[in-house]
Amino acid sequence: MLSMAAEAFTYYTQQFGPYPYPALSIVAVPAFPWLEEGEIYAARSSGMEYPGLVSLGYLEGDPELPRVIAHEVAHQWWYGLAGNDVFNEAWLDESLAEYSSLLFLRDQEREKEVQAFLDEARRKVERIEILRGRAWKLGSSVYDFPDFSTYSVVVYSKGALFLEALQKETGSEAFFAGLQQYLAWYRFGVGTGRGFLEAMQQASTRDLRPLFEEWVGLEYLR
Ligand SMILES: [Zn+2]
Repeated sequence: MLSMAAEAFTYYTQQFGPYPYPALSIVAVPAFPWLEEGEIYAARSSGMEYPGLVSLGYLEGDPELPRVIAHEVAHQWWYGLAGNDVFNEAWLDESLAEYSSLLFLRDQEREKEVQAFLDEARRKVERIEILRGRAWKLGSSVYDFPDFSTYSVVVYSKGALFLEALQKETGSEAFFAGLQQYLAWYRFGVGTGRGFLEAMQQASTRDLRPLFEEWVGLEYLR
């Protein structure tokens, strides 16, 4: 668990830039069953991010665990370094942390897991949109979502799909240059969706507005 966190840490340092804090602590405890809307859910691996600290509830042998660890470590950049309004633009740090975990798995030559994740994300988004009878743009505020599962499917799964589409549009070099620009602009500050679009646009020769309109919604940009 610790070596996976260390590898993710090294990868992000190379791709996004230096880690902003003097140390990173990982506190891990076994996962326990949890409740949501009165239902008992089976235990699963999960985590929570704090500046310089990651807490993990782990399930031994959980195939999702490496990605959960990589997601939480990525928050040190997306939230710990460049913050954001987590109520009105929750997608910014969560989508970036989710997609960073896929970039890390890809770097670890675990492309099969990345594709399985993206396929499942597509299914989840499709299912929730059919079930709720509408589609949500990533730029929606948390107040726009009717429940936690809709929020999490849009902000995490749809967010990762958007960033995959964005990287395809810009190419990898411009994509990482845009991420680094965003981090430089909002270092220990509060990033915005508009700033994220501007950073990406500065790095890319393509007009990215149509893609942002399709996924994020330009009218939501702050
Ligand atoms: Zn997260």
